[in-house]
Amino acid sequence: MTARILSGKPIAEAIKSETAEEVSTIETAYGFRPCLAAVRVGEDAASEIYVGKKVEAAAEIGITSEHHHLPADVSQDELMALVRDLNTRDDVDGILVQLPLPGHIDERSILEAIDPAKDVDGFHPVNVGRLSLGYPSLVPCTPAGVIEILKRSDIEIAGSHAVIVGRSNIVGKPLAMLLLRGNATVTMCHSKTRDLPAITSQADILVAAIGRAGFIRGEHIRDGAAVIDVGINRVSDKDSAREVFEGEELEKRIAAITARGSTIVGDVNPKDAVAKAGAFTPVPGGVGLLTVAMLMKNTVAAAKQRRKL
Ligand code: NDP
Repeated sequence: MTARILSGKPIAEAIKSETAEEVSTIETAYGFRPCLAAVRVGEDAASEIYVGKKVEAAAEIGITSEHHHLPADVSQDELMALVRDLNTRDDVDGILVQLPLPGHIDERSILEAIDPAKDVDGFHPVNVGRLSLGYPSLVPCTPAGVIEILKRSDIEIAGSHAVIVGRSNIVGKPLAMLLLRGNATVTMCHSKTRDLPAITSQADILVAAIGRAGFIRGEHIRDGAAVIDVGINRVSDKDSAREVFEGEELEKRIAAITARGSTIVGDVNPKDAVAKAGAFTPVPGGVGLLTVAMLMKNTVAAAKQRRKL
């Protein structure tokens, strides 16, 4: 079997264009545009790229955005004061604090200080609780993006056996709640799971959110399964790339390592997935593109809910 490649690009573009239409409808009807405030602390290179992409996507679809960039040595109190100010400002609909924060900052108390109604990342305990209870809530962007890929690629969730490898608060756990809501039978796996391939090879939908390049191999995949690769791993060593890629793709990856020092690899071995799965999301170009699109969708949803439109 050669897997159908589930490219994230057309799905992300469709979501962004639907969201842009909503923004324009809101502007026409109510005279304002939803506003997203992004907060970044310090000089983490990946965070700079991520926030840049978010601000760029907001501009593309007509969402107003603010980028608050604070120095790495900002105090807990100063950061907290900014979050509180954004909470009280009526023109701000969504607040995102880019993680990771520097070590001296108590990340948890900052995230918990965000008004749940403006928590467009969906990490606040109130939103986590509402999601678990099946109430309407702001849902974390990456898991929400996985659901959009499945739905828009006509992959049946209801009645399927979905196996998720990885139980983090930002991906694995919220995704389990969403798949359960969609009437899948959900199995969660993690580093203490015994005989992982025996479990993952029963999956109709297999999601890898582990953080280990090319970890999921043929033995983990059921013939014809839909394999969703959430992993984003930076591989800088050519031998590791040789274990994961072959042929033209390998040449491309080796060239990327030579030119830029690294290449992005998912948690799934793509050769194995293409040979065994029925459908497969590539890395890059799969789930990652959905995360930003879902953030835009959440910002508009937050604006509508909070302002009771
Ligand atoms: P975490 O490090 O928080 O969690 C990793 C999970 O994988 C843990 O539950 C861990 O188990 C499990 N795990 C680790 N090793 C094994 C193993 N050998 N067998 C089975 N399970 C294992 O990662 P995140 O959820 O934050 O991220 C996962 C991946 O997704 C990363 O590559 C990250 O970069 C990527 N990511 C991509 C996003 C996107 O936009 N596409 C957004 C967020 C993350 P245990 O709990 O027992 O330690």
